[in-house]
Amino acid sequence: MAHFTVIGLGRFGITASIELIHMGHTVTGIDKDEKLAEQYSGELTQALICDVTDERALKELNLCQSEAVLVAIGEDMQASLLCTLHLKNLGVKEIWVKANTSAHHTILSKLGVTRIIHPEEEMGARVAQALNYPMVSDYLSIGHGSYIVDIHLPSPFQPMTIDSLIKGFENSIHCLMVKRGQEVMKSPPSSYIVRECDTLILFGPKEALVRIAPRLK
Ligand code: ATP
Repeated sequence: MAHFTVIGLGRFGITASIELIHMGHTVTGIDKDEKLAEQYSGELTQALICDVTDERALKELNLCQSEAVLVAIGEDMQASLLCTLHLKNLGVKEIWVKANTSAHHTILSKLGVTRIIHPEEEMGARVAQALNYPMVSDYLSIGHGSYIVDIHLPSPFQPMTIDSLIKGFENSIHCLMVKRGQEVMKSPPSSYIVRECDTLILFGPKEALVRIAPRLK
């Protein structure tokens, strides 16, 4: 369990906060709008009213004790940037910031934040991936063009060994897990036969995963 701080309790900020709470973490939510802080005080570990452009007010919140601080202010770029600068000055190491425009992104990258998030673009890319490869229920980019993908095999599906599924890509694609109902098979052998409705967790470079996609229909 870790402690996170989320600044800005708009739709994006509160969704991320509540998701973190569901994952068992503690979350301090901060907003200058007292109605929002009040509205979410029961759902978050604590909800504080603070104008985060005020460095002295931020300093009193001991934000360095958070595992990470997420700045979820989108519209007011000036407030987002000032807040980020203050967090840097206060020594917060892990700063994630939502950016709305490319100018916002450029300045944030100069400030050296840990991660710049573009929710609309990231979600758009995910939706396009889902439309293109409906069998991929989720994926995680782990950098250098490699992905971990969660694939749900359709029904009907001709049973086949993992070996034949990844044929030609044995050195690049690895099957990390097969889930069948409640059963979980970790690092299954290549002779393991997968069948309809199984969920596979595969790891590999995107090009190789795209090449085997037709075998998953
Ligand atoms: P979303 O799409 O997530 O609803 P948004 O991208 O439109 O939000 P805003 O509505 O501008 O972003 O900001 C999100 C929240 O940040 C709002 O609830 C707003 O009150 C809060 N906020 C904006 N400026 C400050 C500030 N200086 N201090 C604290 N909170 C702020």
